[in-house]
Amino acid sequence: MIAIDPSISSHTLHAILEEVFGYAQFRGPQQAIVEHVANGGDALVLMPTGGGKSLCYQIPAIARQRAGLGVALVISPLIALMHDQVGALHEAGVSAEFLNSTLSGEEAYQIEQRLLRGDITCLYAAPERVTNPRFLALLDSLYERNQLSLFAIDEAHCVSQWGHDFRPEYRALTVLHERYVGVPRMALTATADDLTRADIVERLQLQDAEAFVSSFDRPNIRYTIVEKREAVQQLLRFIEREHEGDAGIVYCQSRKKVEDVAQTLVDAGIRALPYHAGLDSKVRQVHQNRFLREEGIVMVATIAFGMGIDKPDVRFVAHLDMPKNIEGYYQETGRAGRDGLPAYAWMGYGLQDVVNQRRMIDESPAGEEFKQALRGKLDALLGLAEATDCRRVRLLAYFGEQLGDGPGYRCQNCDNCLNPPDIWDGTDAARKLLSTIYRIQQSSGMSFGAGHVMDILRGKTTEKVTQHGHTALSTFGLGAEFTEIQLRGVLRQLIAMGAVAVDAEAFNTLRLTEQSRAVLRGEVQVQLRESVSTPASRNKSKRPGAGSAVVKAPIALDGEGLVRYAALKAWRAEVAREHNLPAYVIFHDATLAAIAKRAPQTLDDLQGISGIGAKKLEAYAQEVLRVVNQG
Ligand code: ADP
Ligand code: ZN
Repeated sequence: MIAIDPSISSHTLHAILEEVFGYAQFRGPQQAIVEHVANGGDALVLMPTGGGKSLCYQIPAIARQRAGLGVALVISPLIALMHDQVGALHEAGVSAEFLNSTLSGEEAYQIEQRLLRGDITCLYAAPERVTNPRFLALLDSLYERNQLSLFAIDEAHCVSQWGHDFRPEYRALTVLHERYVGVPRMALTATADDLTRADIVERLQLQDAEAFVSSFDRPNIRYTIVEKREAVQQLLRFIEREHEGDAGIVYCQSRKKVEDVAQTLVDAGIRALPYHAGLDSKVRQVHQNRFLREEGIVMVATIAFGMGIDKPDVRFVAHLDMPKNIEGYYQETGRAGRDGLPAYAWMGYGLQDVVNQRRMIDESPAGEEFKQALRGKLDALLGLAEATDCRRVRLLAYFGEQLGDGPGYRCQNCDNCLNPPDIWDGTDAARKLLSTIYRIQQSSGMSFGAGHVMDILRGKTTEKVTQHGHTALSTFGLGAEFTEIQLRGVLRQLIAMGAVAVDAEAFNTLRLTEQSRAVLRGEVQVQLRESVSTPASRNKSKRPGAGSAVVKAPIALDGEGLVRYAALKAWRAEVAREHNLPAYVIFHDATLAAIAKRAPQTLDDLQGISGIGAKKLEAYAQEVLRVVNQG
């Protein structure tokens, strides 16, 4: 049975935005999306992290519930985060619950009863629920009475093997539209290149859904990619210089490295915690909770950490190892600065990263076609790392978006735009390197690693060079003018472009490939950024206000304002602890700062501050006024 949907006006939807969430305006395409979905349309929503996807289904859910259409089912893969997601809705006065394996039988039963009574607006469930007969029976019963208002499939890229979080359970979600014909469905994700997007549409059968593709630009994030020397020390300097006392995430590839780096940071006085799949699940949960609930924690993690982390005030995301592809990089870096305030994405990158990633693809048991796709994705990321022009332009181009007015555009918020690198032509060095590899191979029938090849070219009479008689090679000393750093850069590019292969089975020795020829013949240009020998020491003096004893506010506040802000934060921490929720779920920093600035004396003075909806006003206004006036 399908009832004709009542039409829900844009006025109604805007009223919910203001009343429930305390926001004055929809952001970007939110309005078009909520209008479409609230009135029964299917939708595919591609929006960057921090773009505001949650409201895109929460507002239609509230509007449709109020129109008598029942409950919205939100599919989310993140059982560990459902508690906080639901808690945030409770704070806003929305009736929400979750059904997952953490509930007792009795708790689940109570929720089912409330669902059947029509008491719930948003129900969160993990995808594996939809293959559970008992759950389907529950949905059947709601459907028969027209009480299933909407299906929202969050993190929809999990349905695709091209996404980096493939979850086979997502494939079963086709049951939703097959069994519950006519219930509007929306799929939401922050990561989808063309391949992934096509896969989502096909797998979830959203061919007829309207696609809402936002700009993927995150203007408040500053992208920086540095050449690795002593990566951990570089990271440490970066944190000390730019992010003292800030919350951040550091991604590493291996569990061991996660442990080591976390320890190094702790030894340097940074509040760092490790997170990886090898830790006991209880420890992981504790660390995640501390990251969400305490201030200024740096999480050192493998990519096992982060999906669905909606902490808005993560001030930096650092990569100590290169991710597999741009989607991964963009998703991970996107966790910085969801609150729209300035944030940093920092990556260290080196020859070894290129070698490792290539090797992982080569050695994977996947079919050749799949490997080819993976290589293409890796190449795009290598291109980004080696780029000498605007990083943001490159990133967005990867997602099919053009930024600015063509070549030469500068975003003024990435390393290359802020400090344009000097470029040198490495074509000659590249040819000399390749012919050295060729001549070694020819003379001795053996392959050698990067260090030895560079030594020969630079004319170093090391023991190994002499021992193998390599001083006699015609390229010996032919590249004496190049520094090792320069040659490393050239080699990295040659490996990245496939003109040199690294044999992992044989001590990482170097070989020529099909593609070497074009470079040797001078048909391919090799452009490189000039390596700076010391990282730019901008901002050396500590930021005013940095350090744990002093409060940092997201907007400019005078002395008294800062005192009020600190008092409000202390009050918020208490409330958050009582409610067992992260502090930002009560109020964002930006909301507290706006209150501190305005120094409200009456309820009226609180009106119009972003982030204070009706329920929060009712629940907290008196307390807030008291704290402000005591402060
Ligand atoms: P996403 O899921 O797309 O990463 P969220 O839904 O978590 O993003 O939203 C990111 C942040 O932006 C949240 O803190 C949310 O409260 C805030 N936000 C969303 N929409 C608006 C809006 N229209 N006005 C102000 N803040 C908003
Ligand atoms: Zn730029």
